[in-house]
Amino acid sequence: MTRKRVVVLGATGSVGRTALAVISEHPDLFSVEALVAGHDVDALAQLARSYRPKMVAIADEAGALALKSALSGTGIETGAGPQAVIDAACIDCDIVVAGIVGTSGLLPTFAAVKQGRMIALANKECLVCAGDAFMAGAEYYGSRILPLDSEHNALFQVLDGQDKKFVTKMTLTASGGPFRKWSKEAIDSASVEQALAHPNWSMGPKITIDSASMMNKGLELIEAHHIFGIPAERLDVLIHPQSIIHGLISFADGSVSAGMAMPDMRVPTAHCLAYPERITSGVVPLDLAAIGQLSFERPDLVRFPALALAHQALAAGGVMPAVMNAANEVAVQTFLNGQCAFGAISDIVFAVMEQAVGWTVGERSIERYLAVDVDARRIARDIITHYATMRL
Ligand code: MG
Repeated sequence: MTRKRVVVLGATGSVGRTALAVISEHPDLFSVEALVAGHDVDALAQLARSYRPKMVAIADEAGALALKSALSGTGIETGAGPQAVIDAACIDCDIVVAGIVGTSGLLPTFAAVKQGRMIALANKECLVCAGDAFMAGAEYYGSRILPLDSEHNALFQVLDGQDKKFVTKMTLTASGGPFRKWSKEAIDSASVEQALAHPNWSMGPKITIDSASMMNKGLELIEAHHIFGIPAERLDVLIHPQSIIHGLISFADGSVSAGMAMPDMRVPTAHCLAYPERITSGVVPLDLAAIGQLSFERPDLVRFPALALAHQALAAGGVMPAVMNAANEVAVQTFLNGQCAFGAISDIVFAVMEQAVGWTVGERSIERYLAVDVDARRIARDIITHYATMRL
């Protein structure tokens, strides 16, 4: 493999750190051109000293001086604020790891798309909020999108360029999270610590809560719809507690192919970074005999209403997935702050979605979907305030 130049957006987060860990295993194969982080100046400066990019950018403008002084004398260019983040995302490179969490990842990732870059896409909002505009942009600018999420990465590898007209079903697996065997009552009143205790995956707090509610799988259904161009009725979710099979594709002749790997994000990360070649990821080989059993269950939409909401949002299309995602982000943060029950998360999301019935998309642009996101967040906050007042 010839040396690849990499830009990491969201460098201090879970996705970014995993990418840098894989890069560290292959110092001769990769160079880091730019690193972007949200607000953690110290962590970003430390990564910059290790990986020696040309440029680092921090989204939080308040970190500008601290970042500059932390890296003074290194020759590394520093910047702060939204434009600096965009500039770093657009620096010349071979692949951009899009690992910013949340809607703030949309504009920087799309800026890299406009440069025609290959994108290892982990940010869910690009597809969930603005999937049609994002994928149309990728096609227009010649930007190749490689899914970095484990399920989509497995499906991408299984599909392997085969014609999707032969695909009868695409199945994303879900571990079931920490509440797989819990009663509805117990789930609804779960604590933050209980919701953060994911059995198989180590991830950031937002996605870990989304895994506990299964909203994460719902968001992934919407992602799969856009990235593979597969209609909602051919997408499915299967509970698979061991998280060894990440995705399954059923073909017209009855053949079913499974994408398998140890549940470790270094595997899909190494796949994306090296694509179309292969490199080691540092993960131990899959030993099926040691694992012994793979088991499967149907998802329970009553105990996990977030998954049912995602099915509805996907069926509704238009702005509804963006509305659902925005409401969920606000509700999850409210739960993490200890200001609402776990069971209230999906109630809040549903209440916001109800308000958005009849909203039209109009112009299918990233900016339009971002405006929808802002409106939905405001409604979510209003609803939360209203509930809080009612409880007093
Ligand atoms: Mg996933």
